[in-house]
Amino acid sequence: MLGAMQDWDLRVTRIIDHAAREHGARELLTRWADGSETRTTWAGIRRDALKMTQALRKLGVGKGDRIATLAMNHHHHLISWYGAVGVGGVLHTINPRLFDDQLEYIANHAEDQVLLYDSMWAGVVERMKSKWTTIRHYICFDNGEFEAWIGAEDGQTEWATGDERDPCMLCYTSGTTGNPKGVLYQHRSTMLHAITSLQPAIFDFDARSVMLPVVPMFHAASWGLPWGGAAAGVKFVFSAVNDPAVLCELMNREKVTHTAGVPTVWLGMFGHMDATGAEIPSLRHAIIGGSAAPRFMIERLMKAGVNIAHAWGMTETSPIGTTGAKTWDWDDLPFDDQVSIKQMQGRVPFGVELRCVSLDDPDVELPRDGKTSGALQVRGPWVIQRYFKADKDAAIGPDQWFDTGDVAVIHPDGTLQLTDRTKDVIKSGGEWISSVELENAAVAHPAVAEAAAIGIAHPKWDERPILVVVKKPGAEASADEIRDFLGTKVAKWWLPDAVEFVDEIPHTGTGKISKKDLRDQFRDYKLADA
Ligand code: ADP
Repeated sequence: MLGAMQDWDLRVTRIIDHAAREHGARELLTRWADGSETRTTWAGIRRDALKMTQALRKLGVGKGDRIATLAMNHHHHLISWYGAVGVGGVLHTINPRLFDDQLEYIANHAEDQVLLYDSMWAGVVERMKSKWTTIRHYICFDNGEFEAWIGAEDGQTEWATGDERDPCMLCYTSGTTGNPKGVLYQHRSTMLHAITSLQPAIFDFDARSVMLPVVPMFHAASWGLPWGGAAAGVKFVFSAVNDPAVLCELMNREKVTHTAGVPTVWLGMFGHMDATGAEIPSLRHAIIGGSAAPRFMIERLMKAGVNIAHAWGMTETSPIGTTGAKTWDWDDLPFDDQVSIKQMQGRVPFGVELRCVSLDDPDVELPRDGKTSGALQVRGPWVIQRYFKADKDAAIGPDQWFDTGDVAVIHPDGTLQLTDRTKDVIKSGGEWISSVELENAAVAHPAVAEAAAIGIAHPKWDERPILVVVKKPGAEASADEIRDFLGTKVAKWWLPDAVEFVDEIPHTGTGKISKKDLRDQFRDYKLADA
């Protein structure tokens, strides 16, 4: 016997239908790179997305075809998301800051048919055009071309229909090891993720919210904001430039209540606020994730009355994995303890399951004791099953756990605390040393701008850590001083065997430290006692 309720398929076009119907007059604002501004509404976004589906059909683009974007945050980009999925296609957001060989690989691997791009990336397009073998149509978003292209249509059409398990979006991981890998989201997974994202512990949205997403639409689906924001009918304030002065001005003028971005965004914002005395009194909710948010950042925002959702996730998890859901006793905790909890990566929403297994034996599940660290695994309806075009699943075994590549501790109340990445953790004398904790300790030194710890082969200990340091401009510190400083913060046997000063540490296309390149750089490094 089956249940007798309606089969309302979970297709993401239902989200924009809802936004236009229930929040049709709600405004969205774009600040373009040239400083001009455009306002539209949710009804306008839906109308233009329908026009785009007509225009795509005329190009012969339809079900299952990949439609790529190379663009910053603006409402034309948002229209293209709903237009691409509306024609039954697969939206492929490309990070324009990737290296050329990655750009070449992913567009060809995805077999993109159409590329919509911002004029600021026209140079990338020109450079790559001869290497992209499948793209048939190039349309510029912000020189009048996109508007003319969809403007020739009347919007009198229907969305493509299909199965809720059809693909709707493709995002590639930045590929810190090997080639980038494609994560192919379904309508269903995206819809469930969007509904979940509305919770207070995640985006905390309703129709009164004004959201300025700093996280780019090309990075991990802008954390799902274009879907969740439409479901809630929020006002989006998009900025095609990420200059802190512009962001601050927009936040104040448009009375922004919500924002989302990686920690470095706040470093820029604080710098601007300190230099000018600017404040953001309307802001009440900030989602921070992608890398660990430092304590001073959380403390400063919390003191300003901003609720912090410090989130952990990855492209493979759509990307929401955990956020700072409060425990029942939250209000009774002293402020310092609240900050310490927010500094960790938070707790799962309903729908995500986490566990840690031993780094030495993945069959051994570890206790949630807040002490034992291991390989973090995740599963749930918006977690990856298999990479695009891969011939075997990424989720392991009958229980479908996906290995995140992160190393973590889970506390008894479910709070996740990341301690490292599996490939970066350093094994010394049979025990594990967290490279992240060494780095966090090192950057607290006033002369250190950036630090990275890597393991170097050692005949007796297997591996020993060394610390690679970039000094702040004009600052001075010796290797011994830094080791002494670390000695006050980490166990003695964790102390790096050497501290090496460099001008620059290599980064990936998404701006994270590339340990792979750093390890290559130090491949022939010899420790003094090795
Ligand atoms: P990539 O894996 O290609 O760098 P993602 O954007 O998917 O791209 O990054 C996911 C990874 O980022 C996670 O596996 C984790 O290592 C790191 N990460 C994400 N959020 C946090 C956070 N709040 N604190 C620390 N690390 C984080």
